[in-house]
Amino acid sequence: MADIIQLLPDPIANQIAAGEVIQRPASAVKELLENAIDAGATRIHLIIRDAGKELIQVNDNGKGMSPTDARMSFERHATSKIRQIDDLFAIRTMGFRGEALASMAAVAQMEMKTRRADDETGTRLVTEASRVITQEPCQAPEGTMILVKNLFYNVPARRNFLKSNNVETRHIIDEFTRVAMAFPAIAFRLTNNDTDVFMLEPGSLKQRILGLLGQQFNAKLVPVEEETGVVNISGFIGSPDAAAKTRGNQYFFVNNRFIRSAYLNHAVSQGFRDLIPNDEFPLFVLFIDIDPQRLDINVHPTKQEIKFDDERIVYSFVNSAVKHALSKYSIAPSLDFSLDAGIESLPAVTQPFSSQQQRQTENDFLFQSFSQAGQAHLLHRSNDLKNWKELYKVQQGMAFPEQESEGSATHTDMFSPQFVQLAQSYVMATTKSGCMFIDQHLAHRRILYERYEHALQEGIPIQRSLIPKTIELNPTDALLLTSMLDDLKHLGYAIEPFGQFTFIIQGTPGDVPDHDEKASIEKLLDLYKHESSDVKLDKREKLIRTMAAQKATPYGRRLQDAEMQELFQQLLRCEQPQLSPEGKKIFVRVNGDDLGNMIQRG
Ligand code: ADP
Ligand code: MG
Repeated sequence: MADIIQLLPDPIANQIAAGEVIQRPASAVKELLENAIDAGATRIHLIIRDAGKELIQVNDNGKGMSPTDARMSFERHATSKIRQIDDLFAIRTMGFRGEALASMAAVAQMEMKTRRADDETGTRLVTEASRVITQEPCQAPEGTMILVKNLFYNVPARRNFLKSNNVETRHIIDEFTRVAMAFPAIAFRLTNNDTDVFMLEPGSLKQRILGLLGQQFNAKLVPVEEETGVVNISGFIGSPDAAAKTRGNQYFFVNNRFIRSAYLNHAVSQGFRDLIPNDEFPLFVLFIDIDPQRLDINVHPTKQEIKFDDERIVYSFVNSAVKHALSKYSIAPSLDFSLDAGIESLPAVTQPFSSQQQRQTENDFLFQSFSQAGQAHLLHRSNDLKNWKELYKVQQGMAFPEQESEGSATHTDMFSPQFVQLAQSYVMATTKSGCMFIDQHLAHRRILYERYEHALQEGIPIQRSLIPKTIELNPTDALLLTSMLDDLKHLGYAIEPFGQFTFIIQGTPGDVPDHDEKASIEKLLDLYKHESSDVKLDKREKLIRTMAAQKATPYGRRLQDAEMQELFQQLLRCEQPQLSPEGKKIFVRVNGDDLGNMIQRG
């Protein structure tokens, strides 16, 4: 019997390989854009027709190719980017497998015009089913222009497998977005069926994000910037109100390469925990830079998945970076409505999130192991206004007033807001540019919470009872109360054990009326037990949250003018005026523009 094994002819081998690299028009788009970037282009124009099924064209002003290179570029495993196997581990360019053009040529009709800066004439090349059918000198602008026509014309099964034009166009825009996002210094243009969809000029990352995702995120982008010896991370996360019901706006780049990683997504979401609802997804555009030696990029043909040497370290680092950025952001709103010059020196502006969160971050073992000695200052920004100035400038597009002094907390008298109570639940306060609607109960909860937090350190005065009362509890409650006695003392409760399940109340904080002592403690124990058990809080944190919830002005209570003013001013002095201790939004702001939008003027 005859031998039956044959080598596949190149065109067929290429078609098979193409199946891996070019799955749909968007994959060709990605490869072509990356080639243009690798060629050093500063302007890249993507033109598509009929969702890329009829035409995908990329024009670049990169370094171009010699006539021989132009021809070689269509060969499989032809690449100018790797010479030896070691190069594989130091990859900084986008593509390197030398398969993309060969794959496209196997499943489409292609045309290329290319010219190097120093060459008089360029080269024109036409291919059909992997064969070069024309190669000739031609006039061409510096750079390269590649056309991919009638993708999958010779593989009907694949062509039929493509989705609707809407879906395929969406995929193309996604790829375009990922590439353009990673290279804000390069001008990108996308023309779809003769209509320009994007015209992005070179600029900052922030400008690029807004150009791609929409100007509505202006003032909602929080910078992230952390450096260690091992990994660097930079980019932006969206403020909690930029979160969306879908995952759309989530971008990770590792060494400038877009990647998907459920694991790292989780690291970011965890950083947002308690700040956005469970069914919403935060916006982020994060760039992780890491020594390529620590990566294995080659685990998936489309290279959107990578493996890190030590995933847990990267996870922890991303998580800490997000938390850190958020803690800085949390005070941004006070800058926002502080159209007054002095407000940036309020404690809200000069101090991080909450001391508890700060403690948490500082205690984070991995965070510590990342923070080299010289970078310890990253955690202590209380006196470091510089970042705030930058954030403020970016967000407001305004100059930051030159004032470094740590002022007292009485800047609120620089404007005199008017107050109105609504539905006996909200306080409307006028600001210079609009107004704020403040949830009276949540605001008060925040104020009390911070007061108690402070009290745990400093103590608050105890008002001695004239006639000490005793309180008898069931064994469980007795045990609970015993474990809280020390902390309660700092919070103004002098309580002493008196027998096994009985306690004597010697004194209470000034704000508890005499006859209420017992009820107040019983209610506190009750609330404490019901305080959401799904969040793991330390005992003290839970205690002060409970006390704040218990004592805060309830809904339905009418407030006097003076009370509203007091509430407003105290809220402004909080370290974190924006969120209740449980992470609920305390207020919303409405300015003239918002109103204009609401009445659909523009
Ligand atoms: P790879 O990018 O993995 O090297 P490709 O098949 O995408 O493989 O490209 C093959 C080669 O063709 C590249 O290594 C590069 O030398 C050359 N090339 C492709 N596109 C361009 C371009 N737009 N400008 C200049 N050279 C290019
Ligand atoms: Mg390539």
